[in-house]
Amino acid sequence: MGQLAVPPECDDDVMNSTSPEAVRNEATDWFERHWDPELPLGRWWQLLADSGWAFPSWPEGFGGRALSAVAARAAIQARRQIGAFGPPNGVATFLAAPTIMRYGSQAQQDRYLPRIVNGQDIWCQLFSEPGAGSDMAGLATRATRDGDEWVITGQKVWNSGAQWAKYGILIARTDPEQPKHRGISYFLIDMEQDAVDVRPLREMTGDAAFNEVFLNEARVADEDRLGDLGDGWRVAMTTLSHERDPDNPGMGDTAAFGSVDLTMTVKDHTAALGSKIDGFSLALSGGVTKVLEDVTGQFNALNDPIVRQRMAKIVEMRRNAKWSGMRTAATVKSGGQPGPEISTLKLLGSEMGRQIRDLGLDAMGPHGMLYGEDAPGGGLFHAYSMFTPAQSIAGGTDEVQRNIMGERVHGLPREPGEKEQRELPWSELPRS
Ligand SMILES: Cc1cc2nc3c(=O)[nH]c(=O)nc-3n(C[C@H](O)[C@H](O)[C@H](O)COP(=O)(O)OP(=O)(O)OC[C@H]3O[C@@H](n4cnc5c(N)ncnc54)[C@H](O)[C@@H]3O)c2cc1C
Repeated sequence: MGQLAVPPECDDDVMNSTSPEAVRNEATDWFERHWDPELPLGRWWQLLADSGWAFPSWPEGFGGRALSAVAARAAIQARRQIGAFGPPNGVATFLAAPTIMRYGSQAQQDRYLPRIVNGQDIWCQLFSEPGAGSDMAGLATRATRDGDEWVITGQKVWNSGAQWAKYGILIARTDPEQPKHRGISYFLIDMEQDAVDVRPLREMTGDAAFNEVFLNEARVADEDRLGDLGDGWRVAMTTLSHERDPDNPGMGDTAAFGSVDLTMTVKDHTAALGSKIDGFSLALSGGVTKVLEDVTGQFNALNDPIVRQRMAKIVEMRRNAKWSGMRTAATVKSGGQPGPEISTLKLLGSEMGRQIRDLGLDAMGPHGMLYGEDAPGGGLFHAYSMFTPAQSIAGGTDEVQRNIMGERVHGLPREPGEKEQRELPWSELPRS
């Protein structure tokens, strides 16, 4: 029986008249001429950025060619077919970059985006706090004005990749006398200062991809505030809508977390990465369906009609997540940014993760109980399986996505008491 292939592209996006076929040909030609695994990683990423093939749907000059979603996908497929290594991936590309593109001044865009698209700078996201996760608007980290600078004091937590980050996207309270959603501002903070203390946290996967971050009178220049003073909640919602978008153009297919040596050849870099890739990076880099195919193939599970049925369901869910038209609809309605409807796709992603995990482990039989290097395939699929519960939490929990859909898409009433809380100054709110 044949392989269950990922569905073909549909032509549902006609925002840009450049035909996907023409783009595919041009990209193929470029990659055939330029791809060389012996190049240093930094040089390869710079070439990708300069040519606009790094993130083809992004603006020209910032690693892209302003292509439509469909044409950009054709270019990415051309790259993959040739086997060329992808652009940098991580919080920098899928969260910081689209937010800076939307709200950044020209000076901020010129300063930060080129070093994101060529992989020079790693970024992290400093949103969650011990007392403010789902209720993020309740955050207590304070930003106090001191001349041309802001002094930041507080604690953040679950900050992925913060131990390697040069910069952080940070939300902090600039006016505690405003209602909780209104007194927040958004900053681009330099993580490499003594007043920023990053402490890694070990997860049940065994990796330490995320951290707690203590800010003890850290400094940010006012010119590194993103968006208007007190408007940080709106800016943060843009970041989160990109985080919940399963087809975020900044989410690449290379490992997402970890320090990188840009002087290493791409060949050595990928070899060093090898099976060390963690479950978190695999979830974000989207390569898991290939790993699932490998493990089901290794155990001859695809001969079983029930396994094939479950696999077909996963392929169908993936098609829905990527090409259902929901993303386009949500994005167009919200002026080019993913809107609240994108929460449906985030929920679908969590469910898909669980189904992939269950199918892969079932297919392996008793081998599914192993962990680490002894497990089939060097334990890569098992690392992903251990990470899957996190997918229903990161970027807002499943329950929160359902609340968003209920309240902001279907117009259901808000939770009892929430309206009153939204009007009270943050300083008067009860805190745990
Ligand atoms: C792998 C991973 C990576 C992460 N990376 C980052 C990062 O880089 N930067 C960052 O800032 N944060 C990060 N986070 C944090 C993440 O955003 C929070 O964990 C998430 O928002 C939930 O907050 P919490 O953990 O405080 O849970 P809580 O908000 O305490 O929720 C606990 C439980 O209560 C439920 N709940 C809470 N409120 C409601 C409600 N109103 N209605 C119904 N149910 C509710 C939740 O659904 C959940 O089940 C990451 C998390 C994970 C798992």
